[in-house]
Amino acid sequence: MIIPQKDKLSQEELATVEAIAAEFNCTIRPIVGHGMSVYAIIGDETSQLLFNRIEGLPFVRRVDRIQVPYKVLSKDNSSGKPTLKFNGKELGKDFVVFGGHCAIDPENPNLFIDTAHALKEAGVDALRGGVWKPRTSPYAFQGDAKAIDVLLRAREETGLQIITEVMEYEEVRLCVDSGVDVLQVGARNALNYRLLTQIGLLTKDKDIAVLLKRSIHMGPVDEMILAAEYIAGSGNNNIMLCPRGTAPAMNGYRNHPDESITQLIKERTWAPVVVDPSHAVGKAAYVPKAALAAAAYGADGVIIESHCNPMKGTGDDPKQAVTPQVMAELIPALRAVAEQSRKF
Ligand code: PEP
Ligand code: MN
Repeated sequence: MIIPQKDKLSQEELATVEAIAAEFNCTIRPIVGHGMSVYAIIGDETSQLLFNRIEGLPFVRRVDRIQVPYKVLSKDNSSGKPTLKFNGKELGKDFVVFGGHCAIDPENPNLFIDTAHALKEAGVDALRGGVWKPRTSPYAFQGDAKAIDVLLRAREETGLQIITEVMEYEEVRLCVDSGVDVLQVGARNALNYRLLTQIGLLTKDKDIAVLLKRSIHMGPVDEMILAAEYIAGSGNNNIMLCPRGTAPAMNGYRNHPDESITQLIKERTWAPVVVDPSHAVGKAAYVPKAALAAAAYGADGVIIESHCNPMKGTGDDPKQAVTPQVMAELIPALRAVAEQSRKF
């Protein structure tokens, strides 16, 4: 939909727009309103170049899309929707909870193993644990590839699927070769389109899911869905979208909590939404209520940093991990809220 700078386009301006549209097999239909006319683009208007060409014209104020720019993830393409199951629960039907350390300390593997068993007992459906960590400071603990063995051991002992973050090609390859169940793309790499494509290619036709976080700097909902489209478009539809808070931070929270975006995501795509309240609020005491809000907003699940002894943790764990005891109380409450929310 083309909105002109003035009340309407002149004959000459209209002819210019029509000529551009024709190059993309589209036509223009003027919609004459009271004191203001707009111009509908008729045809397949998914080409970004078509938009850029028209938006660049000096007599055009704005061009709004009617069609969504993503093909695989579009809600209209329900055949693209995969079935993802964790601990026997189907994402989209049952509320699913992922939990575990921000970072796995390979020098103290038993901490993660203890957490894994305690979280299984608490009702968690899959285990998260950072092997490689994207840290703001280059002097902070960066993770250690050795931790992948700890993660695999936790899966073997608990039978729960495992999730870890990947930041570059070699890490993706190692995880795929080791059979990690879910690859997390973190907030820092959510806009790394080459990495997203590589993940799609390396996990194509494999039983591996991708949890794509929302970047700290992502604004429009479509920006997140289009990032996911890179993964889907290159071969893997097993995608979960993960709002985790954005900038600027709300004074007192680590980021600006964005769990309310879930409703907007669900209007546009079939992709399930798994909210991360831990990185949104950044403090253990705030996490349970933020998680409940996510369930109320219609999330299909949550991913929560949890640790059996947060003070002995690394990475974010000392400040924002909740204990398995908190998880045991929180999980039934989350399921109850999610059930209520589905009624509306
Ligand atoms: C994490 O999950 O520990 C993490 C680093 O997340 P984010 O990318 O959302 O900051
Ligand atoms: Mn973390």
